[in-house]
Amino acid sequence: MSLIAITEVRKRFGDNEVLKGINLDVEAGEVVAIIGKSGSGKSTLLRCINGLETIDGGSIMVAGAHLAPDDAHLRALRLKVGMIFQSFNLFPHLTAGRNVMLSPMVVKKVSAKEAEAEARARMEQVGLGHKFDAYPDELSGGQQQRVAIARALAMQPLALLCDEITSALDPELVNEVLQVVGKLAGEGMTLMMVTHEMRFAREVCDRVVFMHQGRVHEIGPPAEVFANPKTPELQQFLGML
Ligand code: ADP
Ligand code: MG
Repeated sequence: MSLIAITEVRKRFGDNEVLKGINLDVEAGEVVAIIGKSGSGKSTLLRCINGLETIDGGSIMVAGAHLAPDDAHLRALRLKVGMIFQSFNLFPHLTAGRNVMLSPMVVKKVSAKEAEAEARARMEQVGLGHKFDAYPDELSGGQQQRVAIARALAMQPLALLCDEITSALDPELVNEVLQVVGKLAGEGMTLMMVTHEMRFAREVCDRVVFMHQGRVHEIGPPAEVFANPKTPELQQFLGML
């Protein structure tokens, strides 16, 4: 059974149907890149999987459990699926380590001692063990985004959804964040990643999903999708037309 099973998912905002029947299964340990033009529904899809948006049709299952619209289910789902955004949103008055400790303590009621041990391990995992006591404004944008990744990992998610997590960074800081994501992929983390980094998608991802106007327009292994795009829409997106 797939870790994430998305079946005929529809989502509308008023008259604007932005997801028009999405079907996508993601296996445990799989790394999926989502590409497509602005407005094609990429962020909305991730937000639906994470329960930040309710869906108007179809179904989303995570680890065999339905995403039901009642609060308890949504809360349970958000604990299973981590999400990282373009903006890191660390609390500026807390150290990096404290930022990572916060959710496990508040949401999971983990003890401070346990949360600190977990946070130190996750900070090590993103290569920032030495920055545990630094405040966000003492860190570069790339380091802050790595702390945000550590914060998501501290909740021990089954999968991580990343929405353009390098888009707000200066170009020279993009690679250190992609390297951390690549390392997580190598460690077996299930990842769905909206990204403009085509080289990363080509080298690290198992499959690439091209979204166009609220639909999965093409899907396949990166070698196929990038080298042999079948539709004019993807050819145009890739700059081939
Ligand atoms: P992408 O991430 O691919 O750029 P989005 O999922 O953000 O696309 O947006 C898809 C469409 O849904 C766009 O037309 C956008 O304006 C619309 N949309 C997204 N979020 C909302 C919202 N909260 N309210 C109304 N319209 C929205
Ligand atoms: Mg988006």
